[in-house]
Amino acid sequence: MLFCVLLIVLLILLMVTRACRIESQQILVAAIQLPEVNEEKAVNGVSGALKIPTPSAKGAFRPEMFLNLHRYLEEQFPLVHSKLQREVVGGFSLLYRWPGSDPAAQPILLMSHLDVVAVPHDEKSRWTHSPWSGEVADGYIWGRGAIDVKCGVLSQLEAVEHLLGQEYVPKQDIYLAFGHDEEVGGDDGNLQIALKMRERGVRFRFVLDEGGVIVNGALPGLNVPLALVAVAEKGYATIRLSVDVEPGHSSMPPAQTAVGILSAAVARLEQHPLPASLTGAFGLMLDAVAPEMDFMPRLMLANRDLLAPALLKRFSQTPTLNALARTTAAVTVIHGGQHEGSLPGHAEAFVNFRLLPGDSPEFVLDQTRKAVNDVRVKCEFRRGAPPIPSSFISDHRSPDFLTLHRVIRQVFPGVVVAPGLAVVATDSRHYEAVADNIYRFLPVQLQVEDLQRIHGINERISVQNYYQMVQFMILLIQQLSE
Ligand SMILES: [Zn+2]
Repeated sequence: MLFCVLLIVLLILLMVTRACRIESQQILVAAIQLPEVNEEKAVNGVSGALKIPTPSAKGAFRPEMFLNLHRYLEEQFPLVHSKLQREVVGGFSLLYRWPGSDPAAQPILLMSHLDVVAVPHDEKSRWTHSPWSGEVADGYIWGRGAIDVKCGVLSQLEAVEHLLGQEYVPKQDIYLAFGHDEEVGGDDGNLQIALKMRERGVRFRFVLDEGGVIVNGALPGLNVPLALVAVAEKGYATIRLSVDVEPGHSSMPPAQTAVGILSAAVARLEQHPLPASLTGAFGLMLDAVAPEMDFMPRLMLANRDLLAPALLKRFSQTPTLNALARTTAAVTVIHGGQHEGSLPGHAEAFVNFRLLPGDSPEFVLDQTRKAVNDVRVKCEFRRGAPPIPSSFISDHRSPDFLTLHRVIRQVFPGVVVAPGLAVVATDSRHYEAVADNIYRFLPVQLQVEDLQRIHGINERISVQNYYQMVQFMILLIQQLSE
């Protein structure tokens, strides 16, 4: 008995010691003079771009709108368009090259996209300001694309225009790539640009794309905003489950119909989630946030090797954390049967997976078959939609990551910077073969509840935040060139 008590006391002591000893990874930055930008011009710039509807979805795509946007950018950024080389790729995507002073220096790439998701007809009337108005009101710039991601395109061009106005020349070449079809996969835009880069032997040391943002209230126990720089992104695969049986009359049914067999398979699949883990890119995030948290969560995270089962159980109950810890499966489509009086000969379901780095599509297919555990249910990747493997994990200790970290804290003092995982796909995946490191971060600061504005209703960015974005891009370009 005494021995047990002693053991528990020792264990608690060990855990507390570990919690006290984990050190902050945050870079200390001195307050600096931030670049001064013409706020009115910058805000009008992004507002004007939001007035041009550029959805890329089939049926909503209007080529003339993309050409209008190209012309608009030319008018807004005359120095960019006279001093940088510009190419139109795939008809509507834009690639710029800003030559650096040192031809031997390895180039960098800043990315964003010109297209947006469409606004469903029944949602239009629910916007406070029309989605294509670019209205500046109540301290915000409103419109579809305000966050995702015309603010990225415009702030990057605004920063380059600003630096060109000061006759600034970067050390290495800087490329800007703005796809026109990111929201539908990027095959005609950024994939083509990436192939061109490969052909030309261009290899980037640093790529910046969207993917992570700054969120206030991101995690319970973390009382400062979290800037998540995604060093990896999840893959994507859809598996089709199908059942084929003899059709017949429903007056003399077998014990299970095709619908019954399929439903049971779906239920088993949901009961057997793929394994979760606190390592990988998610683990890097936990390492970075733990030292900044209140004592109890800090204690838990500092001892997550000991507490993994309990932590994973808790994380699994929160969809956002669950998505970071495992390959997720979502049954999104199910079909079967036509008639109430007939036994269906066929039933099928689609299960959409988001793959953790390390879980290959083949592994996920294999696990699905094991979970379904019924030879009558055929499991295969959906035809015509080849799986997209997850990305590689970029180096969170590289000098460029540290530069990114520093610039974030210069422009947004007090935020915690953490490497992490993007749960959605970005166009940056097309550059894996031509990049040393890919970081996904957009300097947009949001409340947790604002996240649903992305692809949703009342998308908007604050005027102050947009101004900070331009400052961020200016400092980043300068400091990546040092
Ligand atoms: Zn986007």
